[in-house]
Amino acid sequence: MLGHAPFCFAKKLYLCSRFELSERRCSQKFYQIMDALLPFSIPVSGLKEGVHRYAFQVDEAFFAAFEGSLLKRAAVEVDLELDKRPSLLLLTFRMQGWIEVECDRCLGAFQLPLEEEHELMVKYAEEVSDQAEVMYIRRDAFELNLAKQVYDFLHLSIPMHTTHDLVEQACDPEMLRYLRDTEEAEEKQTKPNDIPAEGVWDALKDIFK
Ligand SMILES: [Zn+2]
Repeated sequence: MLGHAPFCFAKKLYLCSRFELSERRCSQKFYQIMDALLPFSIPVSGLKEGVHRYAFQVDEAFFAAFEGSLLKRAAVEVDLELDKRPSLLLLTFRMQGWIEVECDRCLGAFQLPLEEEHELMVKYAEEVSDQAEVMYIRRDAFELNLAKQVYDFLHLSIPMHTTHDLVEQACDPEMLRYLRDTEEAEEKQTKPNDIPAEGVWDALKDIFK
């Protein structure tokens, strides 16, 4: 196993920086992340020009690998079409399944169906960097890990407002009642002591007696 150590160490450093994890947390999560995200690595060196297809699956383990992920549960099939051309790679991601989101109104979780298509251009460059819709890799890169891109695409697919209306389901009535009661109780607490209108006049009458 010692023979694999430098490779593992390099992978670890790569994952720490790629997924913005501190060194300590990276150590703890390293093997968990490796298991969940390595299927999203595709070999690019030695790949023949033309169209290649890959399939990935996104589930709970995938999101657990990202700190602070808004999404926690999902079942999404990702079909990737990779078109290798002399100077670039054209990637088309077709994603289908569901993501679990929280209702803005009753805070209940529900499964939101998802069907999305995204394109990504990968260019070769000496300096590796990411921009929206364009990714740069070194020409001698051995593989391409697309987990972060899939993560971003899935988070972009979350609508601005998520309520049970989106899936034609009713909100949790007990939760709605509880939230309304809590809100009313809070309003009462924050309002200044109300003196009824007639109470004000009575108080003034007492002063000017
Ligand atoms: Zn709801």
